[in-house]
Amino acid sequence: MIETNPCNKPVNGGSSVPSRVSRQTKPDDTIVNINGVQVGGSEIVIIAGPCAVENREQLFETARSVKAGGAKILRGGAFKPRSSPYNFQGLGEEGLKLLSLIRKETGLPVVTEVMDTRQVELVASYADMIQIGSRNMQNYPLLKEVGMCRKPILLKRGMMATVEEFLLAAEYILHQGNDQVILCERGIRTFETSTRNTLDLSAVPMLKRLSHLPVIVDPSHGTGVRWMVPPMAKAAVAVGADGLIIEVHYKPEEALCDGYQSLNLDEFDRLISDLIKIAQAIGREISVPKPLI
Ligand code: PEP
Ligand code: MN
Repeated sequence: MIETNPCNKPVNGGSSVPSRVSRQTKPDDTIVNINGVQVGGSEIVIIAGPCAVENREQLFETARSVKAGGAKILRGGAFKPRSSPYNFQGLGEEGLKLLSLIRKETGLPVVTEVMDTRQVELVASYADMIQIGSRNMQNYPLLKEVGMCRKPILLKRGMMATVEEFLLAAEYILHQGNDQVILCERGIRTFETSTRNTLDLSAVPMLKRLSHLPVIVDPSHGTGVRWMVPPMAKAAVAVGADGLIIEVHYKPEEALCDGYQSLNLDEFDRLISDLIKIAQAIGREISVPKPLI
């Protein structure tokens, strides 16, 4: 018998869950390997870094600090999907080059967004994981293209996508032969305007029940409010997220993009020490580098 929710929709793997992403097809959790960093196992993986790569000092200072604080993967956009064409659009390939330089120094794998099928090859040649942003979750040619490349994919939930549409987008990637996909809840558009988006944490246990793919949460875009990032990050870990992607900037007040929702370096460190306790309480862990004394 298929379990139903009050709206009578199948919630436990009925026809609304596409087959390749379905836990019915593959009961065990998928572990995504990003150059040696495993997402979907017992460790909760922290991805951190600036919204956009702006310059060498900004990226390198931020990356060194988040690494020391416990981040395992570095984020940073080189091609930015901005609402206004007059806003900073990212450094493009120069940003990708800076990401690969700091990866060499810190050893942190990097994740960065691709927005266009014509740039998949270029981005894949620098990135350890390719991000498909919220605005492109239903860009089917782009999903097919990244499905054909042999890099892990971080797929962000479309801001107007249902859980079913989100899983169908992931199915496009798996269908092309790439099963290294991480799902990211990043907030949806609702009638509420006090936050940038409504972070749908109920999607985390739902996605984990319906699918074998790892699920992470982005509390930065999910709230759009710096002070709300720590409480929602903690809640995300408590509801079973396999990781977090957090915007961190060494000088948020000077950021060219999303500074108002970026943690500074100290705020990031404090958050990680709180998250470690929550992870332990639910039988998981977050590891941080040993202090160099
Ligand atoms: C981002 O993570 O840089 C980003 C633009 O997020 P989203 O696609 O979720 O808006
Ligand atoms: Mn951002």
